[in-house]
Amino acid sequence: MRDFSADHRWLSLNTATVRKQGNFVEIVDACARHGVRAVSPWRDQVADVGLDRAVKAVKGAGLDLSGYCRGGMFVADAGHRQESRDDNRRAVDEAKALGAPCLVLVVGGLPQFSRPGSAPSKNLADAHRMVEEEIAYLLDYARKAGMPLALEPLHPMYAADRACVNTMRQALDICDRLDPAKSGALGLAVDVYHVYWDFELKAQIARAGRERILAFHVCDWLVPTRDLLLDRGMMGDGVADIPAIRALVEAQGFNGYVEVELLSNDWWSRPMDDVITTCLARFRSAV
Ligand code: ZN
Repeated sequence: MRDFSADHRWLSLNTATVRKQGNFVEIVDACARHGVRAVSPWRDQVADVGLDRAVKAVKGAGLDLSGYCRGGMFVADAGHRQESRDDNRRAVDEAKALGAPCLVLVVGGLPQFSRPGSAPSKNLADAHRMVEEEIAYLLDYARKAGMPLALEPLHPMYAADRACVNTMRQALDICDRLDPAKSGALGLAVDVYHVYWDFELKAQIARAGRERILAFHVCDWLVPTRDLLLDRGMMGDGVADIPAIRALVEAQGFNGYVEVELLSNDWWSRPMDDVITTCLARFRSAV
């Protein structure tokens, strides 16, 4: 396992972590100031400054990417299916332009939340089927573009509105059906926040192996958690055994950037430089 105690060279900052404190270009500038070597941008933050300007900012600062957030939201009614497909192809193209190593997929839950305007449904089994069909469809395009897809299982509390793929086992079953050769075109984003509780975590990380682990995200699970979406904890402030999970991932040969991704009203209310400084310190002490 890599020793992170002395420096933060393997830290990547997911730009949602400081999304309220500045635009994408300002975040890239802050990363340069703090010696952060990599980022993982969100599509809306890129769109806000324009793709060309975002590409220039990343290249100008010499930053690597650890991923691009995010494609997905595949579940839609028939009238919104094409919108979803077009949108996801654009996400692949943007990831390619930015030089991302993978496009992260948050797959969507029920259609009315995944693609607003879709006819409401309570049928999660249908959602599961559609997710797999649409990943298969996008995979064809992504393969040709040379853009790996990183399926991110989300905590089960998001099954209805964000992602009906909720465990490592479920995500790996999809990967194995759609990419049995483990070609590198389809794998997982393993996010400690979403999977720390999973009693099968050790076995499923071993099952994933190096080929399937495309990204590794960290933050902490706070007790109590006051908001289902926007109360993620700074590493070290919660109950997730982050170093133990990192050890499992690295035992499979993962040696890429470890992405700090906090969606937190609390941390969004603090100055950007303070948040980044804290991320760097906690990266050394609690990751
Ligand atoms: Zn994540």
